[in-house]
Amino acid sequence: AKKQGKDRYEIFEPAMQAVFQAGLQMEADLRRAVVRHEFELRYQPIVHLKTGEITGLEALVRWQHPERGIIPPLDFIPLAEETGMIVPIGEWVLREACRQAARWNERRDGKPLSVSVNMSAVQLEQADLPEVVASALSNSGLPATSLVIELTESLLVDHRPSTLRQLEQIKSLGVRLAIDDFGTGYSSLAYLRRFPIDIIKIDKSFVDDVGDVPAAAALTLGIIQLGQALHLSTIAEGIEDAEQLSELTDGNCELGQGYYFAEPLNDVDMGELLFPPS
Ligand code: C2E
Ligand code: CA
Ligand code: CA
Ligand code: CA
Repeated sequence: AKKQGKDRYEIFEPAMQAVFQAGLQMEADLRRAVVRHEFELRYQPIVHLKTGEITGLEALVRWQHPERGIIPPLDFIPLAEETGMIVPIGEWVLREACRQAARWNERRDGKPLSVSVNMSAVQLEQADLPEVVASALSNSGLPATSLVIELTESLLVDHRPSTLRQLEQIKSLGVRLAIDDFGTGYSSLAYLRRFPIDIIKIDKSFVDDVGDVPAAAALTLGIIQLGQALHLSTIAEGIEDAEQLSELTDGNCELGQGYYFAEPLNDVDMGELLFPPS
């Protein structure tokens, strides 16, 4: 046991020790954040490209750290997934997004506004996820048809046998499913057949080059046509300029989001965008 202890000590050189300590600190901070509800949502509009109308929002989580300020999701979601803390965080995101979207829907005349929520594989492994979704809908009063759950390709590629059943249960509530970052995985076409998907989100890496690189344009148009053939909606992610917008609109992409329209906004700013003060 002594020898093992010595070897261990040698592995942890000062620099690594610091990294290790920082990781532990982050984990402890994240646990506290879950208890104290240190999370906030931003909302990015999803726009109908031909009319410019806002048809939906994507909810994106932020961590409001008491000392470090706003921490973006890519800096804490992986740790939250490893530690299982994504389950309570994700449930909070879902309930909060439904609650806010229901309030905005009440003030909106005409077409309903949908809200899209990102979901991790770890959440889908929870047997009670369909009940959690149903309860978020009934507590908020948001119609199921106004909720979209976004799944990544990797989630579907490495899926468990129970994943399909879970997704079918959620779909039977009336909730729609989107594939995020479409085109970046390696078996995209196979799981479009296997899973009950409604919406394809074309990854930003295609949209970035759509006006400049013929191959990117051809692939993007191909994805849009694939969506049409399968009666799926297509959302282009990360639209930043007018050139990208016109290429996508000409290619009959239905919906889009990106900094060209709006960055993710807090609830106050999003409310003003949806209901401009007259
Ligand atoms: P995502 O789902 O692909 O979300 C799109 C990301 O692109 C967001 O980053 C958004 O702010 C950013 N974005 C939108 N338009 C543009 C644009 O025109 N240009 C550029 N450069 N970026 C744009 P964000 O908010 O930092 O989120 C990063 C990722 O974190 C998300 O990627 C998603 O995978 C994950 N995430 C965010 N919120 C949640 C959540 O509540 N649960 C889970 N499990 N993951 C989340
Ligand atoms: Ca997403
Ligand atoms: Ca995405
Ligand atoms: Ca360009």
